[in-house]
Amino acid sequence: MPNTMNTPVIAGNWKMHKGPTAAREFCRRFAELAPAHNGRTLILCPPAISLATAREAVEALGGRPDLHLGIQNIHWKTEGAFTGEVSAPMARDAGASVVLVGHSERRHIFGETNEETRLKVAAALEAGLTPILCVGETIAQREAGQVEEIILTQLDAAFEGLDADTIARCLIAYEPVWAIGTGVNATPEDAAAAHGMLRRRLGELIGTRLAAGVPILYGGSVKAENAADLVAAADVDGLLVGGASLDPASFAAIADAATAAYR
Ligand code: PEP
Repeated sequence: MPNTMNTPVIAGNWKMHKGPTAAREFCRRFAELAPAHNGRTLILCPPAISLATAREAVEALGGRPDLHLGIQNIHWKTEGAFTGEVSAPMARDAGASVVLVGHSERRHIFGETNEETRLKVAAALEAGLTPILCVGETIAQREAGQVEEIILTQLDAAFEGLDADTIARCLIAYEPVWAIGTGVNATPEDAAAAHGMLRRRLGELIGTRLAAGVPILYGGSVKAENAADLVAAADVDGLLVGGASLDPASFAAIADAATAAYR
């Protein structure tokens, strides 16, 4: 079955910002600034501890099918002696329908491996969460001409063992490590080139028809000023936004710019 998420997809990764009180206030304010729109999908990824409160705040809006909640990370086991971890079924219970897997901060700060991303993608799908698989190269890898090798290896590893219909339910985010939180975004041309590599490999894995329906988001120093150009680039189906998603007005402006500019 092809992916049914409306594009563009604009996702906000709050990282380790906003406890429950701030999350509630964000959802209330953001809903005023970004009214319901069936031509896009909005995703908020608060810290795990704020998910249930964010869910209550979204439910209080009384029907926002365009607005989804995601968790930033999961453990691949459903439960057990894993102090400090949160499982996919728990995230779903708290209100998440989406999960970020393999974010560069998970890979580079917490040492998450390609094998762990594979386990997390599988656990997410098993629990009914939609994974957003994050891939991206470091600046050293880009300068060594290894962009394609790195991002396709990350993609192949995460989807190993899954059938075509299952892979087609996922989203991908191309997030060059050197662009995350640095203020230096990839150019639309660089993004289109990387997204084209990912789309071609998806085509080899699941066929071009299903591959065409997998949203591939760009992430890395997105802001209201560059959102339109990035989302207008070939094979860019949305944006994953970190720092600029923390302010409701900024995130709403990015969502509006992306919605207007999307092909
Ligand atoms: C991110 O955290 O996924 C991200 C892209 O961060 P930023 O927008 O701050 O670069």
